[in-house]
Amino acid sequence: MLMLSVSKLVKTYPGGVRALNGLDLTVDTPQVVTVIGSSGAGKSTLIRCINRLVEPTSGRIVLNDLDVTALSRRGLRRARRRMGMIFQEYNLVERLTVMENTLSGRLGYVNFWQAYRRKYSPPDIARAFELLHRVGLDGYEYTRADALSGGQRQRVGIARALMQQPDLLLVDEPTASLDPKTARQIMRLLCKLAHENGTPALINIHDVGLAQEFADRIVGLADGVNAFDGTADELTPEVLNAIYGEEDWSKTINRPTADSNKKMQRDGLERESAAG
Ligand code: ADP
Repeated sequence: MLMLSVSKLVKTYPGGVRALNGLDLTVDTPQVVTVIGSSGAGKSTLIRCINRLVEPTSGRIVLNDLDVTALSRRGLRRARRRMGMIFQEYNLVERLTVMENTLSGRLGYVNFWQAYRRKYSPPDIARAFELLHRVGLDGYEYTRADALSGGQRQRVGIARALMQQPDLLLVDEPTASLDPKTARQIMRLLCKLAHENGTPALINIHDVGLAQEFADRIVGLADGVNAFDGTADELTPEVLNAIYGEEDWSKTINRPTADSNKKMQRDGLERESAAG
């Protein structure tokens, strides 16, 4: 069972911006946690401190038995294999194929010369095929990344992260560059695969509706600390005010419930008309 423990995390950027201000967070079940908060609240800094793309100023991050904050460069490379990262802008190698981009998720595991020559084992290749099937990219294996749509690129990003067989998925605004329909499809896919694999995911997302609909748990950041930690149902207007500041939230929150009510009504009507 995974255990991620973040305690008293502080990040002050050069120039003095204090992005994280003593943040505590524990993830100890394979759940999807969405992280919401205003622009500048520290969401991206949190995700990037966990894999030390950003160096924390102080505080402690422990992944299972590993104190991530105390790792040497070499230890950090090993630790990063255990954390799959998915980016807003996909970070694919444009001139490589979908298959090559997916396989590059394994680069952390193979030695330098294998990576240099891009030699992958038959089981890795079989696994990449299977993952590309699971993300809905059958038939695109040999398409170059630069020929894909945004949604397809993010599907490759998901496959590449899962190729690592990570203990934890770190996901930074996965849908911010996508249209609303594709964004929903990508969130649905990401959360489904995280659940199927039993891999916990920490997902930064600015869309409250998507955060509510797909998360098992929502963490709200404000000014670099945890202003909320609970379920979608607990995300009341008061809580949203605490996270984002005062606003009329009546049309934003509980949208999934409203949608499912509508769907139930529609289904009911259809059943009635079918029966009639
Ligand atoms: P969010 O993801 O919630 O929008 P960020 O973590 O990106 O928030 O940023 C938190 C704060 O840290 C913001 O005030 C931002 O301007 C600042 N910040 C982020 N990255 C840097 C950086 N590399 N250098 C200086 N300040 C930064």
